[in-house]
Amino acid sequence: MDAITDSKPSFYEITMQDRLNDMLWQSVRHLVSILLDKTPSLTPFRYYSYEISSILCALLDLYSLLTTKGTFSENFYSLCRNITSKSSIFSYLFIHYLLPCFIKFPLPGQIYSFLKGLTMLGFLYFNYNYYSPEFAILKQELIRQKTRYRMGTAFIGLLLLLKAVEVFFTSKKGVSEVMALDNIQPPYKDSVIGKGLCPICKEKFVNPTALSSSGYVFCYTCIRQHLQVYSACPVTNIRSSLRNMRKIHMHEGV
Ligand SMILES: [Zn+2]
Repeated sequence: MDAITDSKPSFYEITMQDRLNDMLWQSVRHLVSILLDKTPSLTPFRYYSYEISSILCALLDLYSLLTTKGTFSENFYSLCRNITSKSSIFSYLFIHYLLPCFIKFPLPGQIYSFLKGLTMLGFLYFNYNYYSPEFAILKQELIRQKTRYRMGTAFIGLLLLLKAVEVFFTSKKGVSEVMALDNIQPPYKDSVIGKGLCPICKEKFVNPTALSSSGYVFCYTCIRQHLQVYSACPVTNIRSSLRNMRKIHMHEGV
């Protein structure tokens, strides 16, 4: 391996910033999922938590790349890129964040991992300048910052804020789960809801079964089949499983 020059970062610095970038994405994804699950008006968007998180991270990196030529995690390790144009930044964000939203099959992901392994190997042993495929395509090199930006502290602040928001949401969960049952409004207006008919088959209930997650009642077979496919309450779209099913025992004449 060649001697480490002043401007070329070490393999350690590059892999650590890569890992940090991954961690940031994961925590944003986690928060977005919680937010979409806990806010009834947002639950229809919960299937798009991947896309929403990617857009949020892309915006964060866009700001950071425009101001310091490095992403948040690159700045944390005092790295930046030899970017010369704004279009290069947008191309990177498109390839890194938005392209995976459209291509979700496992094969392109495996090909990407293989190519990334090859470029990293080249970077480590063969003096290749780019450590990942998207950097090679865009001819962007990671270099050490000449003047240190004070983004390191901003990044720690951001991580602490993310953690605080996460703690806030998860600690509220236990207390409010039962109380929230009164407040869950159906996002989908359905004329049969509240009229003594099953929201799925729109007939009289057969073996009425309630969902403990939302409080709505369905026929036993209707809700069982629905949960096996969608894992969500058909009225409120709140995530539910077979374990949320509760048998309802009605009195005669009610
Ligand atoms: Zn039914």
